[in-house]
Amino acid sequence: MLVADVVQALRGDRSQTLIALDFDGTLAPIVPDPAESRPQPGVIEALATLAQAGAQIAVITGRDAGTAAELGGFDAVPGVVIEGLYGAESWQAGELTAPAEPAEIGQLRARLPPLLAAHGADPEVWIEDKRLSLVVHTRRAADPGAAISLLRGPVSDLAGELGLEVHDGRHVLEIRLPGYDKGAVLRRLVERFEPAAVIFAGDDVGDLPAFAVVRELRERGLRAFGVAASSAEVSALDGVADVRVDGPAGVLALLTALAALAGDDG
Ligand SMILES: [Mg+2]
Repeated sequence: MLVADVVQALRGDRSQTLIALDFDGTLAPIVPDPAESRPQPGVIEALATLAQAGAQIAVITGRDAGTAAELGGFDAVPGVVIEGLYGAESWQAGELTAPAEPAEIGQLRARLPPLLAAHGADPEVWIEDKRLSLVVHTRRAADPGAAISLLRGPVSDLAGELGLEVHDGRHVLEIRLPGYDKGAVLRRLVERFEPAAVIFAGDDVGDLPAFAVVRELRERGLRAFGVAASSAEVSALDGVADVRVDGPAGVLALLTALAALAGDDG
């Protein structure tokens, strides 16, 4: 399937479409420092146009929702919902809904740095603290893949002891609360907004549960499309998405085409 097919299929439905998007690697190019991440220029404008035409925009990210809102400049998109930390928290119209921090996360915060040191992790490996989850980043290490392989076992053991889950990502190991994934978030958004059509776009293994829900929605008769923002780093999305586009630039092209359609219709 091509981008043009998706655009064509949504021609009549664009005002009732849920457009759910991952952030890093999908709307924003991957950068060495996640604090420097920004949406591809033009993304916010396209999303704002689509929202004004009646589409519901949602961002489903592993980041905390407040940070994603701020980095993304998403307050310019009317009605946007940001589901952060894989759905553990939610941001809409400047209001953050988030649970209290469980004690296990505090224990993880205390024990993770000495664990990395004890296993001789590369000094460029660092820990991002997202309050309800911690992320070990190896992208800056001399050999990011070897650094992940070295740490996966010990980090998984500690997480298991604390009743937490470990998830792989692009040169990251994320330790987070159990029970949250992007598929559950997407299903919840569909129940809430009851759209006539759904698009989900993602780039990484953490997006796989949402691609599975896209297929499930289609089996239930909804017009639903999964869009993979492909990259040389991730092959796990091959075959699970309906459309493959070339990274964030390809996602931007799709959103721009949909926004142009919204302009035509409106
Ligand atoms: Mg991503």
